Amino acid sequence: MTSVCARCGGRRVRFDQICPACGHRAEGEGLLVAWLLSSDNLGDAELQAAAERVRAGQPVRPSDAQLARARRALGRSYGTDPGLSGRQRVALLACALTLTPLPGLVAAGWWWTERPRAALQALAVSAPAAVAWVGMVVWTWLP
Ligand SMILES: [Zn+2]
Repeated sequence: MTSVCARCGGRRVRFDQICPACGHRAEGEGLLVAWLLSSDNLGDAELQAAAERVRAGQPVRPSDAQLARARRALGRSYGTDPGLSGRQRVALLACALTLTPLPGLVAAGWWWTERPRAALQALAVSAPAAVAWVGMVVWTWLP
């Protein structure tokens, strides 16, 4: 992994990292640009060309299509998914324990590609509850 800083043209390892050369940190829309200038999106030669353009003082102006591509890619990345809030997790756990763990499992499948962190959290809450739930049902119905 490597990414070209959109301000100084220096290299850093991750696109969402503070630039070690100039201290620039990409945020918001800037994160999309940072991703476009990373090895996730560009080959070595293109990265080199982008770095030289930035160093020459040319502004980085990605097209709408490029920004949309970055947005799609970042939407699927574990690092940019804020995941579930504490309250949402408690609600999911309460539902799993008192009613059924099904909503959590369905949500996990639903979110798998778009919100990987939320999906894992829903699974972490619901899977053990599902096991406990099935165990309880079986135990209750055993003669
Ligand atoms: Zn920099």
